[in-house]
Amino acid sequence: MKEWIKEVQTAFRTLEELLEYLKLNKLPYTLYNPKQFPLLLPRNYANKIEKSNPYDPLLLQILPLKEEKIAQGEKDPLQELHFIKNPGFIHRHKNKVLVISTGSCPVHCRYCFRRHFPYTQFSQTIKNPSPLINYIKKHSNIKEIILSGGDPLSLTDELLLPFLEKLEPIENLKIIRLHTRFITMIPERVTPQLLEILTLHSKKIVVVIHVNHPNEIGDKEEEILKKVTLEGITVLNQSVLLKNVNDKAEILEKLSYKLFNANVIPYYLHLMDKVEGGRHFEVPFKKAKAIYLQLLENLPGYLVPKMVVDPPASKHKKLILPD
Ligand SMILES: *Cc1c(COP(=O)(O)O)cnc(C)c1O
Ligand code: SF4
Repeated sequence: MKEWIKEVQTAFRTLEELLEYLKLNKLPYTLYNPKQFPLLLPRNYANKIEKSNPYDPLLLQILPLKEEKIAQGEKDPLQELHFIKNPGFIHRHKNKVLVISTGSCPVHCRYCFRRHFPYTQFSQTIKNPSPLINYIKKHSNIKEIILSGGDPLSLTDELLLPFLEKLEPIENLKIIRLHTRFITMIPERVTPQLLEILTLHSKKIVVVIHVNHPNEIGDKEEEILKKVTLEGITVLNQSVLLKNVNDKAEILEKLSYKLFNANVIPYYLHLMDKVEGGRHFEVPFKKAKAIYLQLLENLPGYLVPKMVVDPPASKHKKLILPD
């Protein structure tokens, strides 16, 4: 069996097991066991969490706090279901189409804006690509396809390859983008076979990773990111600004430099969407702007991510700048 699949199978799935591993017995907050969107994190990520520290920034991204149940918000904060086409792609931005490639992820991020997404109903495009292929051909303004999810690298190479091959002959399509947290969660996912699939493709490939905190990039992750970029693949990073995780300019500055060391360029810094169950991660707007001002002052321009919000049903992300 492939190493990365083993890593998926041995991921932490129960609070009891995780808390014991992290030597956390007395907690300063209350947890619960969610039935929908349960606890999930791979061992490689758990290894980076400091033992006996209930406030570790990596731990806080994945812990189901009781606050999830009280907090208000939207089940579909971006109103994506207004734009979805069966069997699972979203055409909301003029020149790009986003594919819900799978409902699976290597990790369950508690702040995820798609945590309530009806994946079982809308994630059949990879297995049944004809409606999408016909749609892209018909809409010749579409230049880019974004494989999102879920995490497209949850799909095996055996599923990905035939799908990507079907994109080869579409002339108006120029760029294939993958939005993934897999590479840093389970670096073993980057198999020689996967690299071959991506580098031999005739379209330009862009990979957008999702790292929120510098502690998520250790030697192993840095090495694999360098390997991917040295193959000629553009790798960008998106982060979400999260309360008690990365809501300090120094943390985000350190993250930008760490990414740069691994040949990755910071792309977006998202402000939280108003998703039900994730409201306790929200950073006040004023504070977000103050942090961003510091980033502008302290970082070279090319290492400052764009701070954005995604207004419901908007045709593009909205840039936020300090006053
Ligand atoms: C965010 C998003 C994209 C990608 O937008 P970029 O600004 O190009 O990164 C595309 N489609 C949808 C539906 C999105 O939410
Ligand atoms: S990996 Fe991405 S899609 Fe999956 S839970 Fe995390 S934020 Fe959501």
